[in-house]
Amino acid sequence: MSATISFQGIGASPGIAIGRALVLDSRRVRLPKLKLQPHEIDLEVLRFKTAVALSNTQLEDLKVKLASQDGEGQEHALILEAHRMMLHDPLFMVEVARLIKEDTINAEWAVRRVCRRLRHQFDNIDDEYFRERRSDIEFVADRVVRNLLGEVVDEELEVPPDAIIVAHDISPADAAMLVRNGKVGAFVTDLGSHTSHTAIVARARETPAVVGLGKASESIRPGDMVAVDGRRGLVLVNPSEQQLSLFRETMRRQLVSEEEALKTAELPAVTTDGLRVRLNGNIEFPEEIPSLLAHGAEGIGLYRTEFLFLNRTNAPTEEEHYESYKQVLQAMGNRPVTIRTLDLGGDKVPGKKPEKEINPAMGLRAIRYCLKHRDMFRVQLRALLRASVHGNLRVMFPLVSSISELREARSELEACRSELTRQGVPVGKRFPVGIMVETPSAAWIADRLAQEADFFSIGTNDLIQYSLAIDRQNRDVAYLYRPLHLAIIRSLQAIIDAAKHAGISVAMCGEMAGDPHLSLVLLALGLEEFSMTSGQIPLVKNVIRSVSKAEAVGLLTQAMQFSSAEEIERFVSAEMDKRFATAGD
Ligand code: PEP
Ligand code: MG
Repeated sequence: MSATISFQGIGASPGIAIGRALVLDSRRVRLPKLKLQPHEIDLEVLRFKTAVALSNTQLEDLKVKLASQDGEGQEHALILEAHRMMLHDPLFMVEVARLIKEDTINAEWAVRRVCRRLRHQFDNIDDEYFRERRSDIEFVADRVVRNLLGEVVDEELEVPPDAIIVAHDISPADAAMLVRNGKVGAFVTDLGSHTSHTAIVARARETPAVVGLGKASESIRPGDMVAVDGRRGLVLVNPSEQQLSLFRETMRRQLVSEEEALKTAELPAVTTDGLRVRLNGNIEFPEEIPSLLAHGAEGIGLYRTEFLFLNRTNAPTEEEHYESYKQVLQAMGNRPVTIRTLDLGGDKVPGKKPEKEINPAMGLRAIRYCLKHRDMFRVQLRALLRASVHGNLRVMFPLVSSISELREARSELEACRSELTRQGVPVGKRFPVGIMVETPSAAWIADRLAQEADFFSIGTNDLIQYSLAIDRQNRDVAYLYRPLHLAIIRSLQAIIDAAKHAGISVAMCGEMAGDPHLSLVLLALGLEEFSMTSGQIPLVKNVIRSVSKAEAVGLLTQAMQFSSAEEIERFVSAEMDKRFATAGD
């Protein structure tokens, strides 16, 4: 029996898996580097163009195959379409041809050099999510080089059930093929972060994944027994019998609690004294919808559309926006779908090297960014108006901090509506237009905002950041991030009261909404609409179904006698433990 090796990486998708390793050969192709004679140049450019054309056809074929599948296949198809567009991007096409001609080098070498240059541009981006997109450039370049070398690409793989897929990195094309061909046990990759493709695909499939493991793929051999803990980011190769039984026990417990949780999917979220609460889901990608529905989501409370910028250096077209919104609205049928306009800005600026802002969280982001870049905003608004014919749409603007911003955003929406009508483009009926309340200024003027917004959705992630002056990205001040700080409780109370007084609906879509330990506090504050990631829905529902509103109000009244966040937290958590030994564990 071989010795156990353990690797610590980034837990990108939770869950336990045990299985045999299927190691993908994802070494970079070896590259011939040749200097050309002048008479060979034209032929080399032609060779390059042929390889691009072939790559294009392969991506088209794959896309067609996947698009005929369910929503998830369609999502992969969108990623492949983005790759196809990268192929034709002048930054790639024109540059490679120029290098072949001017530096008289062979096409493979020129492709690699352009790829390296593009990668560097991505390396300088601060935002992890956009930086991670550099691997997409590699995947596209690899495909072209393999075609230049006449290698086999898109080979269909037989995946034994529960195989642990081990790779240096997994391209979206490979990921799509793998999940199509069988039930993958887990993904384990050397590269990647929380926002890399493997992570995204894995979370949507509820498949455990550990990424960013360094050189694990070089040490794991095909057929090795591998145990993966996707929450802790732990990978054990050839674990001992004792370790295996611990993993099996954790896996068994997780399965039981997931099954228990799913049993409530069909049941309404109603307190014991009859208060009906609405539980919606948060998504970043349409592919998350099946999981959301399986966990009992009654609608979508937050669709973070900035994720449409995945895999690309340029902004999506109106058609691309429209297709995504249509897909989500149709998949949700009559259920309400709340689409948030782009929360881009600061360092998340597609296609350009971002201008450094000293304090990006307080800089030109979200609605401020959209109001400054009207052309980009209008593309999204037009797409939303067009898509509204396909379902039950609600649109909300992020980070509104003044009434003027809401008015301006609304009038831009109306201008787009009139423009489309003039152009004879079908537009759905008027839909509710709301705002995210996530700045202290919005909380203070909630009564006035409620006169002009159709609904509120409270973004506690940012509301806490700005109210308590704590950078949500900064680990050093993370200990100060306290949802039960009296300032937050009072803000929430003011926002909810203002909405109710004005007769508009108020939801919460920040992380606080999905924390079952806080459900009673939120119920007591009068919150009746929660939105969260799919896995949290059954946990929150379980709490709501076993308490009365009166009991929740009693708990909050007692908690409010304390002054410090620590005391309030300690009190609430002790009370919750008394009632629910396992809330959220
Ligand atoms: C929030 O701020 O609570 C929120 C839901 O928005 P995001 O996390 O996308 O900023
Ligand atoms: Mg926010």
